Amino acid sequence: MQPVTGQGEASGDGIVFHLRGVRYVYPNKQVALDGIDLDVRRGEQVALLGANGSGKSTLLKLLDGIIAPSDGTMTALGADVAAVAAGVDAFRFHREVGLVFQDPDVQLFSASVFDDVAFGPLQLGLGRDEVRARCDAALAEMEIGHLADRAPFELSGGEKKRAAIASVLSLHPSVVLLDEPTASLDPRTKWVLVNLVRRLGAANRTIVTATHELDIVPIIADRVVVLGEERRVLADGSPRDVLVDRDLLIRANLIHEHLHEHGGERHSHPHEAGPDHHHGDNPGVRHHDVVPASPAG
Ligand code: ADP
Repeated sequence: MQPVTGQGEASGDGIVFHLRGVRYVYPNKQVALDGIDLDVRRGEQVALLGANGSGKSTLLKLLDGIIAPSDGTMTALGADVAAVAAGVDAFRFHREVGLVFQDPDVQLFSASVFDDVAFGPLQLGLGRDEVRARCDAALAEMEIGHLADRAPFELSGGEKKRAAIASVLSLHPSVVLLDEPTASLDPRTKWVLVNLVRRLGAANRTIVTATHELDIVPIIADRVVVLGEERRVLADGSPRDVLVDRDLLIRANLIHEHLHEHGGERHSHPHEAGPDHHHGDNPGVRHHDVVPASPAG
């Protein structure tokens, strides 16, 4: 196998992830990904957009080397992902690439937030002072220093997400993978998280964020990869180009054409196709068009 190039280095050409014809089939024969071609370069901030079930989480698990492609070729940080998933050089790989799961309860299992954030550095065998310094820095980056002694199960959803991200940051990964970081958060908490995620891209980290929330994309990403319902890449471009392509967004089931009537007149407009969206077709209520936020300058 090719070795992990290590210490935050992508392979010589700056490519962190290289996928060609990648397919993933779950043991129950469910095809989750079907021919993914994708290169991600060092320092890119990528939003992985797709409707529910389009394969985003599966792709993140592949990028994190915890599952191997069923077919196709794939390297991550120069290493053959199939070998990493089989355990070869996996310890070193996971210092470089960290996945923040959609459900923070999967990631938080210690008696205190500090212990969860310290877990990774302790596994690395680092000294006490280094562990403390890394934890303090990760907690500060997520602005949760005041929660260090709290039990994770007592935290709110947004606080848990921040703790889960801090528990990955303390490993000093050069690549951070985030699975729906704003899912099930109230609007204010969501935007706090969005701003924290935006800042993760500093220090030349490579960030891949899976989401189906169009409005956060221009803030957290400089590149958008859209997974279609055919479970392959439907579009790959700048937020500015992708988010204005209405037909594409409808095809990817990220917005849908909403037909309704007012005063006998029928018209349609695009709506975000999120699972939380309710139409409440009350003729007395004026619908506001929900269109992707225009990309920030
Ligand atoms: P997304 O993150 O975009 O919602 P997923 O990667 O979770 O998509 O799922 C892609 C497809 O794989 C879906 O059809 C889903 O039902 C299926 N799938 C996901 N996890 C499993 C699993 N553990 N076993 C079988 N099928 C799965």
